[in-house]
Order: sequence, then structure tokens, then C-alpha cells
Amino acid sequence: MNSIPAQPDKIVLYPDPVLTRPAEPVEVFDEGLQILVARMMELMREAQGAGLAAPQVGISRRLFVTEVDSGPEEPPHPTVFINPELELSGALISFEEGCLSIPDVRVTVRRPQVARIRAFDVHGQPFEIQDEDFLARVWQHEYDHLEGVLITNRMSPRDRLANRRTLKEMVLDFEEDLRP
Ligand code: ZN
Repeated sequence: MNSIPAQPDKIVLYPDPVLTRPAEPVEVFDEGLQILVARMMELMREAQGAGLAAPQVGISRRLFVTEVDSGPEEPPHPTVFINPELELSGALISFEEGCLSIPDVRVTVRRPQVARIRAFDVHGQPFEIQDEDFLARVWQHEYDHLEGVLITNRMSPRDRLANRRTLKEMVLDFEEDLRP
């Protein structure tokens, strides 16, 4: 698969089908990829999100960016994870999550507390890090996007009921935008 097309101009919203399609690996680490990553960082910051995956900007490739504040002493680090792989461990923890592609929906998701991530940086260099709690959760949420999995797929019956109206309105808006 060759280099990455176009510059995304906005975050794709539920229920756009690109969000539920498993993404393809990144195979070329070129300038197009660097431009895409920089643009994803901008869109994530504008939306004040902690993470953004390529399918969320309409590009079905396996990469995501994160920007998580690590505490009062450290500035937030923006990071890109390309073709990531996760190894999960620890107890399952329930915590509320949102998604930039599904604004106004909050869902309680159970996820393992600890994650080890192996990925490539924008130059194609492999790296591996481990973290827990919030960052481990962000990685898992973004990794889900690469598999075409959304928080709506992980909702409890109670969350499904609570968010039913909002999700239905999003479906109607999406269908309306498709009409000529
Ligand atoms: Zn999301």
C-alpha cells in the first residue's frame, strides 16, 4: 500500500462507516505521513481531546496520536503511535470515556489497568513503553478505533438506553448529510 492521500480537514462523526472498518497498516514512512500526523495533532488540540486515531479523520490506517498531561511538572507530550500493538494486564477498571467522533456521549468502559505498547514513530523507528490508568486507557480507546470498535460497541445496557436518543439523532444527521 502506498503513501497517504490528502489532508483531512475535520473529525469524522458517528456513524460514518470509516469508523467501523478495521484500518490497514502503514507501510510507507514518508512526508505524507508526517503531514498527516501534524494535521491530526492540530485537530486533536482544537477539539481538546486526549487522543485521535486516523480513521477519525477519514483515513483507514493504523496510527493514532495522543496528548496527555503527565502532571503539574511535565508539559503534555504529544506522541504518535504507528502500527501499534498492545499487551494488557492488571485488574479491569471501570471508567467513563468520551469520543471526539461521538460528542455528547459518555460511556463507562471496563478495561485492563496496565498496557504495554509497541509501535513505530513517524520515522519508522520502533519503540516500546508501558503505562497504567489514564494513559493505558487512552491507548486502548485509540487502538479500538484501528479495529473499527467504538465506545458504542462497549456500552452497558444502561448506557445504551441513556444515549439512545443522542445516537439516533446522530444517525439522522448523518443520513441527511448524505442526501443530495
Ligand atoms: Zn474515540
